[in-house]
Amino acid sequence: MTDSPLFEIHRETCIKCYSCVRICPVKAIKVEVNNEFPLIISSRCIGCGSCYKACSPGAISYRSSIQETKDLIASGEKVAAICDPAISGEFHDITDYRKFVQMIRNLGFTFVTEVSFGVDLVAREYKGLLEDFKGKYHIMANCPAVVFFIEKYYPELISNLAPLVSPMLATAKVIHQRYGQDVKVVAIGPCIAAKDEALKFDGDGKIDSVLTFAELRQLFTEFNIRESHLEFSEFDSPLGNRGSLYPISNGILQAVDISENLLSGNIITTEGRNNMLNAVKEIDTRIDLIRHHFNIFYDDGCLMGPGTSHGGEKFLRHTLVTDYANKRLNSLDKDAWEKDLLEFSAIDLSRSYTADDQRLPQPSEEKIADVLGMIKRGDQADNKIGCESCGYDNCRDFAVAIAQGLATTDMCQIFSGRNRQEYIKTLRNTNETLARTQEALRLSEETAKREKESQAETSVLISSMLQQLVSGVVIVDENLRILHANKAFIRILGEEAAMVDEVIPGLEGADLKSLLPVHFYKIFSFVLSSDESVERKDVQYQEGMLNVSVFPLRSKKFVGGIIRDMYMPEVYKEQIITRMNEVIDQNFDMVQKIAFLLGEGAAKTEQMLNAIIESHKSQNKK
Ligand code: SF4
Ligand code: SF4
Repeated sequence: MTDSPLFEIHRETCIKCYSCVRICPVKAIKVEVNNEFPLIISSRCIGCGSCYKACSPGAISYRSSIQETKDLIASGEKVAAICDPAISGEFHDITDYRKFVQMIRNLGFTFVTEVSFGVDLVAREYKGLLEDFKGKYHIMANCPAVVFFIEKYYPELISNLAPLVSPMLATAKVIHQRYGQDVKVVAIGPCIAAKDEALKFDGDGKIDSVLTFAELRQLFTEFNIRESHLEFSEFDSPLGNRGSLYPISNGILQAVDISENLLSGNIITTEGRNNMLNAVKEIDTRIDLIRHHFNIFYDDGCLMGPGTSHGGEKFLRHTLVTDYANKRLNSLDKDAWEKDLLEFSAIDLSRSYTADDQRLPQPSEEKIADVLGMIKRGDQADNKIGCESCGYDNCRDFAVAIAQGLATTDMCQIFSGRNRQEYIKTLRNTNETLARTQEALRLSEETAKREKESQAETSVLISSMLQQLVSGVVIVDENLRILHANKAFIRILGEEAAMVDEVIPGLEGADLKSLLPVHFYKIFSFVLSSDESVERKDVQYQEGMLNVSVFPLRSKKFVGGIIRDMYMPEVYKEQIITRMNEVIDQNFDMVQKIAFLLGEGAAKTEQMLNAIIESHKSQNKK
């Protein structure tokens, strides 16, 4: 048998409702921060199956024994099925118990026996133990979930657990003794915790696999085994007596007439999750006043165990079990039964228990108060009340679980509801701001669109105007890629440029370096890098002469150039006039300077001559 976790939660199906957290009697399911999916802590689990039953989307599964059982049957070894008497309550759709005996045989089991005889054996031992009172009150140990609960959460009560194996274990011992130690045993019953219980025993009490009734149904379906195809078959020996009442919680007591008389009896039978929890708690604290033995089952009797089919009706099952018991009793060979009892009376039915303390340290009062403050339930520090929607009985227990790392604040609906309200408020504010921003954005987009349209219009206008100019105009970017060029520019550059223009209209994107000789495009490079204009520079180009002005349009990003073909008549005439004006201006300037120099020289000469004349005049007088 494998000892993988008994229960597993499947994230893909889990809807995070936390019903499992709420129902788990021992808080073995935790929710971690940043992981909202519940997790089962196997070491804390008592195998009760409450979470499995409570999970409506079916996100929880238990360890399957189907393949294991099929492998055992296919191994060629002798395999005995030991059937819990609760089978009569489960298979109400099968008209006669002898039919499901045959159906089980048809699966390939060598022997099909019943646990009722094991119940008879164990019940007899209980009668001796409970009636031979030596001052210690016992808790009957037939429900594995109760046994695990005491081992893990009330280890100090271990000595009160009756030191007797369960009827399932007792039956395994009987089968090994009757059919051989090598016989493989598969228990079939209503209990999921029994899968873990069986792992603890070896030797003559060894159970090789534990199938639930639900798994047995799956096997019937898989192998298409139907009642209508089969004849009756009886259980293999040994047959049970009143042990067939075992699925009803006090059935084991009635099996051996242990008195349940309220006045003279000394045993209390109880069943169900809350009753079990309260009973064990009171045994721990009040047994000196209660002064009774306890017969406790976790479920509403084994007939409602978690391994039965979903939706079973308790009192219908109860009736089916009693009807079955009556039928069996009517046909019972009492002598054979007593003979069997005698044969197996020497079997060792004793067992011991091991403490497996899973209790977590109690957090300090300060820590609990901190957590209550955090979830804004500080007013609940002393009042042990709460809405229980978190899965805990009150806010304080919830705070303790948070402090122990078993729960998170988000599990509190009031807290997360308040957070949600705040979140919604923040979200609403954010939405309003967003709406305003969107409106502003829309307006600015409209403005930008209008500006863009007007820019495009202007650009078209400028472009058309530029196209009309006789001078070539070109605008290039920082990589000397042409952004804009007019027709005159293309014409000035000549045939090659005209061919490029046919492929790339307007030379848009063309590399200026591929169109102009080095000395020419270097002017543009210079202006780009220096941010200084070059004005009216004459440049030799092909056979002609161009007059080029290049100037920055945006610093180191765009430059523009105006190129004039000096040999074009219009330009030529204008240039001649300009140049003549320049020459005239220069000559006039020069004439002025000469005249000035000449004028200055004449005055000096006149002064000198006047001085000489004056000197001659005075000498003549003498
Ligand atoms: S009960 Fe099932 S669905 Fe709900 S939280 Fe638990 S595992 Fe998930
Ligand atoms: S089987 Fe029982 S003890 Fe284990 S996790 Fe589920 S509810 Fe808790």
